Amino acid sequence: MAMDFAIARLPRIEFGAGVRHRLPALAAGFGRRVLLVTGGRSLLQGPLWPELEAGFAAAGLDVIGHRVSGEPSPEAIDAAVQRYRDRNVSVVVAIGGGSALDAGKAIAGLLLPGNPVLDHLEGVGPERPYDGPALPFIAAPTTAGTGSEATRNAVLSTHGEGAYKKSFRDERLVADYAVVDPDFLATCPPAVIAGNGMDALTQLLESYLSLRANPFCDALALDGLAHARDSLLGLYRDPGDAAARAGMAYASLLSGITLAQTGLGSVHGLAAPLGAFFPVPHGVACGTLVAAATAVNISALSAREPGHPALARYAVVGRLLTGRAYPDDGEARAALVALLEAWTGQLDLPALDHFGITIGDHPRIVANSRGSSMKTNPIVLEDSEISAILEARQSASGPG
Ligand SMILES: [Zn+2]
Repeated sequence: MAMDFAIARLPRIEFGAGVRHRLPALAAGFGRRVLLVTGGRSLLQGPLWPELEAGFAAAGLDVIGHRVSGEPSPEAIDAAVQRYRDRNVSVVVAIGGGSALDAGKAIAGLLLPGNPVLDHLEGVGPERPYDGPALPFIAAPTTAGTGSEATRNAVLSTHGEGAYKKSFRDERLVADYAVVDPDFLATCPPAVIAGNGMDALTQLLESYLSLRANPFCDALALDGLAHARDSLLGLYRDPGDAAARAGMAYASLLSGITLAQTGLGSVHGLAAPLGAFFPVPHGVACGTLVAAATAVNISALSAREPGHPALARYAVVGRLLTGRAYPDDGEARAALVALLEAWTGQLDLPALDHFGITIGDHPRIVANSRGSSMKTNPIVLEDSEISAILEARQSASGPG
């Protein structure tokens, strides 16, 4: 691998149990009026909110609340921009899962320019360059999964006819601060922990296998994978486990840092149409496909490009995640696939038929899977190979 790479802008990072209490002071550094974007889930009803709310008031901040329900659509972003653009907002603070963070990121990017987000969405509309300026943005994730607090893109979705899931992407959208407090995970439902945790794991794996992988991100991806190995199943069983919470919050943050630099792979290529056409949460789409996609990538590489460095990389990850020093690379790769399959079962990740997907839907999903993520997959997969990934997870009982 070439030792030349560029690392794009990162947020300043505050990490650790209790760092949420720094949010009001950090926001106050940008001005008095805060647009606070939260998700549909429990933060405002949860045990951590009263103290946070009191902290914003004590810092003398004027907080305008905006709630996001479900994955944000371009229309929802435009409506929020129109609603708040004359309110003299000084900083956008998003506290929530990937949907709330992506919504906050897109709103912060457009509140000053005021134009529709469709102007800039990749692969749809005119794809005009984004010139900013963006408002200051602070991202505080309450789930461990998407890594959105560290990335430069906001994923927006539409549903129904012509549905899509596409990114508004620019370096100016990167949060000024990522405030990562693992305590937020204490109230995260197990199914959300499972899906998001497998999303983080997939993002780390796909970053490490990406055609744009680099030594800097490799180090972060491997450390993130080691933390996911030590934390994910434990956190799923017991969200009260503080060490597991910290481990997954850290793995997720690293996954956001690496994916923003390296891009992703076939799992994320497929997750986009799955999430646009069917009610499959992003993390579940990734979690349910990652074992099958890993098996298909390994077999495609072995058949067509047996000297490809990605094969050795899959073996490295197999040894890392299993904790076993397989002398033979092939054995290490087989152990990786077996471990991912076992985790998929232990985390109770539903198969595709659970979401109303049939075999007849596969061609449409495959046809829409070649977005930006698929372009950094270690090998160009044939349609039949992408199909095979879906077939393997069509029903819980396996292929056929
Ligand atoms: Zn993801």
